[in-house]
Parts: sequence; C-alpha cells; structure tokens
Amino acid sequence: MKLLKTTPRNIKLAAALIKAGGVVAFPTETVYGLGADGFNPAACARIFEIKRRPRFDPLILHAASIKQAATLFKRVPAPALRLMKRFWPGPLTLVLPKSAAVPDIVTAGLATVAVRVPANPAARALVKAAGRPIAAPSANSFGRLSPTTAAHVKKQLGSGPDLILDGGKTRIGVESTIITFIKGRPVLLRPGGLPLEEIEKIAGTAARAPGAGRRSPAAPGCLKKHYAPAAKLRIIAPGQRVRPGGAAAYLAFSKRPAGKFRAVQVLSAGGDLREAAAALFSALHKLESSGARTIYAEKVPPHGLGRAIMDRLKRAAA
Ligand code: AMP
Ligand code: MG
Repeated sequence: MKLLKTTPRNIKLAAALIKAGGVVAFPTETVYGLGADGFNPAACARIFEIKRRPRFDPLILHAASIKQAATLFKRVPAPALRLMKRFWPGPLTLVLPKSAAVPDIVTAGLATVAVRVPANPAARALVKAAGRPIAAPSANSFGRLSPTTAAHVKKQLGSGPDLILDGGKTRIGVESTIITFIKGRPVLLRPGGLPLEEIEKIAGTAARAPGAGRRSPAAPGCLKKHYAPAAKLRIIAPGQRVRPGGAAAYLAFSKRPAGKFRAVQVLSAGGDLREAAAALFSALHKLESSGARTIYAEKVPPHGLGRAIMDRLKRAAA
C-alpha cells in the first residue's frame, strides 16, 4: 500500500490502478471514499472485503458529470434533473432505478442505484481520468467512524487499499445527503452535507423515508448502529451536568464544559454548524484515541447541517 499526495501525476496513477481492478482510497469533499471501477464486479467485491462490509449494504457510484450519471439511471425524472443541475458537483446523492450498465454487486441486488458527482477537485479528476464511474463508500471499517483525513483511512484500513491518495482534511466532513423520489416527490434517506432546507427550496417539501435511520428496504445501508466510536457515546443537553470521572471525554458544540475530562473537543467556538460538521469525525477520532470509555456529546441545533450531525451522533450512541 502506498500513500501519495493528490498531485496530477498521482491521480493518473490512481486512475490506472482503478482501471486495472485496484482499490484506491481518495478524498472527496464529504469524507474519504474507498474506490473501485464501478463496472468491475470483482473490484467492487474487494471494497466489501477491505471494509468488512455486509453485502446487503449498497455502494455509491461517483460520476464525473450529469451526463455520465444519467447513463447509470433507467431514466431521470424532471425533479431529479433540477437537483442535479443545482447541486452537482456536490454532497448530494440521488437514488433512482438503475440502468442495465450497473452491476448487481454495486446495488446489493436492489433495482435502484445511488449516484453523485463529487465536488472535490482530486475526486473529480480521478473519476474523469478513470473514464468510468467509481464505486466508493466511505473508507472506514464497516460500522466505525468515517475518515476525514488520510491518516484516519490508514489507521482503519491499513494495507487494505492498493493506494491512499492524501488530499488533506475533507471540507464538509459528513457524508452526502441521500434523496430518492417516490411518485415524483423527494424523500430523504439520509441527512448529510447538503442541508435539507436547500433541497426543499428547489424540490419542494422532502418527506422523511418511513424507515430512515433504521434498517429498511428504502435505505438498506442506514443501519441504526453506525459511525460508532470504540467508546460508549451518550447524547446530552448542552451544559447538562455530567460526572467527569477518569474515563469520560466530552464533545462540546461551542462552549468548553466545566470539570476535568480525559479529553475535550469543541466543534465550533462560534456555534457554526458547517464548521461543526467539518470537525465532527476528527473530534470523535481524537476522543476515541484518548482511551475514554464514555464520550458525552452535546446536542446541536437540529437544522441545516445540524441534522446530519445529530443523525451521526444518534447512530454512534445506538
Ligand atoms: P457510504 O458511502 O459508506 O455512506 O455508503 C453508501 C450508502 O448509500 C449506503 O450505506 C446506503 O445507505 C446508501 N445507498 C446506496 N445505494 C442505495 C440504494 N440503492 N438505495 C438506498 N440507499 C442506498
Ligand atoms: Mg459509510
């Protein structure tokens, strides 16, 4: 396994590896992805092996353009096209009936496929150079914290990937927002890096999937327990009194807690939800490595990116 910076030369090398059936971890604007040729079932199977991911949990395909993305769907309904035009490239994943081009291993046998066009320049260059969609779920071990740096990937996946492209810290820091359409209406499958409010401005009110956050046919990958740190996570109200104790760590939204904790992370001193989302997984990785047995995590306001943060915290606490 190699770890290389995202220079044009290394991106070319990564694209060649992917075309040859290799597996490459790379930065996107959300979190690091573990990528393989989306049209090569054997290469996609390696993603599941390296992540120890159950085969019923489908992958997201990363495309270089709306045009390429459209070839992966059976057809693109008008409201979906509006979202693509407004938000791609960006942290929005669309789930629609798949075209025959998409192998079953990518969708875990579902009739629908999840696709997005990433905004991170290295990710876009990589997908473009590969000349095919890249299947890439988050580059973590299944059920563990998502990676927002190349070091996080290395720590969890070690020598699993053939190459890790290091593009620094990811800008958004939480996974993409996943939207599907039922009878032409948008349905939220997973809150994420694109605030729901912005989607609703373009698409109208988005319903929440009946089983979102649970294991359900609508969002098979959205297992209740997911994104889990090794320590036990407890969600508390901001400023709520908790006993620090020797083995407790604290994840604050904007104000440092009173009392002596083993480790403390503040997501955003200015109380900014975007900044907080970008810092979330890194902060949890740090609290986890402090050796704490319990992490107290403060609730954040449940709008904008706060929705994605609360979703990840609840799963980590489950
Ligand atoms: P990750 O990139 O690791 O967050 O994993 C991709 C996630 O996308 C999965 O866990 C699923 O929740 C979601 N996903 C992928 N394909 C589909 C699909 N066809 N229908 C619903 N959700 C999907
Ligand atoms: Mg994931």
